[in-house]
Amino acid sequence: MAKQMSAVTKGGSFLINESPAEDVFTPEDFSEEQTMIRDMTEQFVEEEVVPQVAKIEAKDWSVTTGLLKRCGDLGLLGIEVPEQYGGENLDKVSAMIVAEQLARVASFAVSYGGHAGIGTLPIVYFGKEEHKKKYLPRLCKAELISAYALSEAGGGSDALAAKTTANRSGDHWVLNGEKMWITNAAFADVFITFAKVDGQQFSCFIVEKGDPGVSTGAEEHKMGLWGSSTRTLVLDSAKIPIDNVIGEIGKGHHVAFNILNTGRAKLGAGAAGAAKTALNDAIRYAKQRIAFNKPISSFGAIKHKLAEMAIRIWVTEGMVYRSAGMMDRALENADLNNAQQVLKAIEEYAIECSILKVYGTEALDYVVDEAVQVYGGYGFSAEYPVERYYRDSRVNRIFEGTNEINRLLIPGMLLKRGASGQLPLHAAVKAVVDEVMSASIPAEPSGPFGAEVAAVAQAKKAVLFVAGSALQKHGDAIKDEQEVLMHISNMVMETYALDTAIHRLMKKGSTDLHADVVRTFITDATARIEFSGKQVLAAASEGDILRTQLSALRRLLRWAPTNTVKARQRIAEHLTDQGRYTL
Ligand SMILES: Cc1cc2nc3c(=O)[nH]c(=O)nc-3n(C[C@H](O)[C@H](O)[C@H](O)COP(=O)(O)OP(=O)(O)OC[C@H]3O[C@@H](n4cnc5c(N)ncnc54)[C@H](O)[C@@H]3O)c2cc1C
Repeated sequence: MAKQMSAVTKGGSFLINESPAEDVFTPEDFSEEQTMIRDMTEQFVEEEVVPQVAKIEAKDWSVTTGLLKRCGDLGLLGIEVPEQYGGENLDKVSAMIVAEQLARVASFAVSYGGHAGIGTLPIVYFGKEEHKKKYLPRLCKAELISAYALSEAGGGSDALAAKTTANRSGDHWVLNGEKMWITNAAFADVFITFAKVDGQQFSCFIVEKGDPGVSTGAEEHKMGLWGSSTRTLVLDSAKIPIDNVIGEIGKGHHVAFNILNTGRAKLGAGAAGAAKTALNDAIRYAKQRIAFNKPISSFGAIKHKLAEMAIRIWVTEGMVYRSAGMMDRALENADLNNAQQVLKAIEEYAIECSILKVYGTEALDYVVDEAVQVYGGYGFSAEYPVERYYRDSRVNRIFEGTNEINRLLIPGMLLKRGASGQLPLHAAVKAVVDEVMSASIPAEPSGPFGAEVAAVAQAKKAVLFVAGSALQKHGDAIKDEQEVLMHISNMVMETYALDTAIHRLMKKGSTDLHADVVRTFITDATARIEFSGKQVLAAASEGDILRTQLSALRRLLRWAPTNTVKARQRIAEHLTDQGRYTL
C-alpha cells in the first residue's frame, strides 16, 4: 500500500492508504486552547446544567433558554460562526470537544445542537449577507433561538418528498404545510424551513415565529429526551418576506444535506461523551454494590462489561478527533470567510462523518444498555440516571439521517469517489485480488506493534477483496442490494475504527493498557469483518469459487486471537482503581 505523505488526507482514503501515525490527530494532541475549552465546558455542565436536570426534564423551558444564554456568554454558540458575525470561528476539534462535554445531559445537548448546529449553520453557509448580519449575532447570544424544520409526517428520510409548499404572492412567500419533529419548537424564534416553491422546487426559507400564519403544535410524548421540545411547525398560509430564501430556489437539498455532515460528526462526539458519563456511573456503582459479600466489580462478568464499554469509547473518541483533525487540516487551505470553501473542505470527510454517526451512536447504545445491566434492578428505576441515559440514547440512531441511511451512504460515497477518480479504489481492489491469487503472505512489518499493524493492513485488504467480489457480481445494480451494502458498510466502519486505534496506539504516550485495548479490539473487529465478509461472498458466489474466496478471506484475516479475557481484566481493574474512564 502507498505511504500517504500529503498534508491533507483525502476523505475515505483510510481504506487504501497508510497514513503516518504522526499525521493522525488524537485526543492526546489537544492544544492548550482546546484543553481550556474542554475544561470550561466540563465545568459549565457540571456546575450549571447537571444541577438543573430535573427542571429540564420537566420541560421548564425557561431553564433551557437560560442555559442557552449562558452558552452564548461563554462563546459556545458561535463556535462555527465567523467572528465578523459575532462568532468564535473555532476549529472543528473544539466543536467536537464542546459536543462531547454537553452530551452529559442529552436533552440540553439536543436543544443546543438544534440551535447552534442545524439551526444556525444554514445561515452561516448559505445565507445572504443581510441574513448573516441580521440573525447571526443574535443567535450567537441566544437573543434569538433557532430550529431546523425539514421532516414531515410523511417523510423524514425521504425529505425531498416534502409536501409543504411555498407560493409567491406579491412581495411575500405564502407557505402551507406541517413540519414534524421540530426540536426547540416550543421556544424557537427562527425556523430554518424547507418547502417546495410551486410544489416543485425544494427550497429553504427563514421563517419567524411572529410571521402571520405560523404556529406550533402540542409537545410529542417521547421515549426519551423529555427535556427537549419536539413539536410540529404549522404553516397556515404563513406570510414570509420575499428575501427570506436561503441559498437558491430549487437547491434546498444543498442546504439540507450539506449541513448534516458536521452534525453527524458532532453526534459521534456527543455519543462518546454520553457513553463516558454512563460508564463512569457504572464504575462507581460496581465498586460500591455488594453481592455475595463482594463488590460486583470483582466479578469477571462485570469486568468484561466495564472493559468492553471503555474499549468502544476509546475507539469512538479516536475516530471523532481524527476526523475533526483532518477537517481542520483541510480548512487550513480554505478561506474561512468563504462559506463555500469551508463547506467543501468539510464535505470531503462526509464518509467519515457518517461513520462517526453510526459507530458512535451504536457504541453509545451498547454502553447505556450494559450500564443498566450493571445496576441490575436499580438500572430500571427512575431513581438513578442510567435509566434516563438508556431512554435518551435510542433516538440518536434515528435522527440526523437514520443509521440505515448513513450505512447506505458510506459505500455509496466510496463508490462515487472511486468512479470519479478521487480515490484509486479500482487499482487498490485489483492489487488485492492479484495478491490473493498469488497466495503470497506478506512479511510482517518489523518494529513496535508489527503484528497489529499487519492485522489492520490485512483487514483493509479483506474489505477491498470482498467489496470487489460483490461489485463484480452485481455491477451498478449493487446500489439496489441493500443487505450487501450494509455488510460492506459494517466492514468499512470497522476498518476505520481499526486504522484509528492502531494509529492512536503508535503515538507517543501509549501504555501496555492501550495495547490491551487495541489487541482486544483487533480480535473482535477482525471477527466481525469476517462475519460480514462471508455473507457478502456467499451472496455473490457459490461452489468452488465461493470456497476459494472464503479461504482467501480467512488468509487475509489471519490475526491470531490474543488473551482478551486477561486483557479485559486488566482494563477493568484499571477503571475501578481510577474510579472513572481515564484511558
Ligand atoms: C426526538 C426527535 C427530534 C427530531 N428533531 C428534528 C428536527 O429538529 N428537525 C427535523 O427536520 N427533523 C427532526 N427529527 C426527525 C428525524 O430526522 C426523522 O425522524 C428521521 O429522519 C427519520 O425519518 P422518519 O421518522 O420519517 O422515518 P422513515 O424515514 O419513515 O424511516 C423508517 C425506517 O425505514 C428506514 N428507511 C427509510 N428509507 C429507507 C431507505 N431508502 N432504505 C432503507 N431503509 C430506509 C429508516 O432507516 C427507518 O428504519 C427528529 C426526530 C426525533 C425522534
